[in-house]
Amino acid sequence: MSVLPTEPLQIVEPLRRNDTRRNLVGLSRAELKALLAEHGLEAFRAGQIWHWIYWHGARDFTAMSTIARKTRERLEELFVIDRPQIATEQRSSDGTRKWLLRLVDGNEVECVNIPEEDRGSVCVSSQVGCTLTCSFCHTGTQPLVRNLSAAEIVGQFMVARDSYGEWPTPTETTRMLSNIVMMGMGEPLYNFDNVAAALKIVMDDQGIALSRRRITLSTSGVVPMIPKVAQELDVNLAVSLHAVSDEVRDLLVPLNRKWPIAELLKACREFPSAKNSRRITFEYVMLKGVNDSDADARELVRLLKPIHAKVNLIPFNPWPGAPYECSSNNRIHRFAEIVNDGGLSAPVRTPRGRDILAACGQLKSASERDRKTKVRDLEVQAGAR
Ligand code: SAH
Ligand code: SF4
Repeated sequence: MSVLPTEPLQIVEPLRRNDTRRNLVGLSRAELKALLAEHGLEAFRAGQIWHWIYWHGARDFTAMSTIARKTRERLEELFVIDRPQIATEQRSSDGTRKWLLRLVDGNEVECVNIPEEDRGSVCVSSQVGCTLTCSFCHTGTQPLVRNLSAAEIVGQFMVARDSYGEWPTPTETTRMLSNIVMMGMGEPLYNFDNVAAALKIVMDDQGIALSRRRITLSTSGVVPMIPKVAQELDVNLAVSLHAVSDEVRDLLVPLNRKWPIAELLKACREFPSAKNSRRITFEYVMLKGVNDSDADARELVRLLKPIHAKVNLIPFNPWPGAPYECSSNNRIHRFAEIVNDGGLSAPVRTPRGRDILAACGQLKSASERDRKTKVRDLEVQAGAR
């Protein structure tokens, strides 16, 4: 992959106008039908419009050539097809692409695409910031938090597709953007309704048409919501475990004080997909001297044996002021060996996009740094320096 600039590339669009028209992105098919009916438009239009928005990627109504001009004009008066705006796009030397997206209220979230040989996983955010304050995660130190709407969640994937020109929806085997991981900013199970609404849109086969097998939702352990992931969505589950004792996990993932390891693993044992062929992924961040001993690895095997599980070992991605260091390569590989010998697959995740601060847990720092850069640029323009 060629080396591309790592500085933010462009400000693509101006801030959205003061527009009171309703956004159609993020509505379910039923909601879309009802909204059209409210305005005296026929129900069958919903299917047509859906196809234009999510299959063809239409960004306005003029493109909708199967709809009569008069109707298109009426639609244009009433509605918009809106995605989050791209504030900046950055490209890593390893091919990772990151978008800083500006929402209508001025908040910002990040979305990342991690290309691999046979696929591209788009890492999507569920919240602005996160309320959960895991001590190794930079996102958790961001003070401002709000849930993203369904439109803002599905919109992230649409922006990624725009960037790769991946419209109309290609066949499953030829896609560059083939997977979604709900592993960006925020805790998806604290915003379940909107995340579920967005993922249902993404899975609709008349539109973006992503298979549920290609979607993974990651949670830090909101135990009562875990069954819903299977019941309502049936997508893959990933659990951020990170420690094998409550003593350590309480420090790393404070949510553990509410739902300790035993309860979390019970919910995982009962997770329906775990009984079938699909395995639950357990994420384990490697922190030097904290959770990376041989004894920790053996305990991990013991805990996960009764579950149809695999382990993802994530080298800790540092951020300024972080109170941890990443385990050494030797330590990580020894740890992986013990877990593998215990019968669990335990690949070490290669950090991606570190040069543009797009790796796991680094997301907050990027948006704050960008804001600082922008302020500095404005100051320079204004002759303040
Ligand atoms: N809130 C959800 C999903 C987003 S975080 C969750 O916690 O599962 C995605 C993954 O990145 C989680 O496993 C998280 O623990 C991990 N992560 C967070 N900060 C990290 C860091 N600095 N280095 C490596 N992984 C990190
Ligand atoms: Fe939130 Fe996940 Fe970060 Fe914890 S690791 S603070 S749950 S985003």
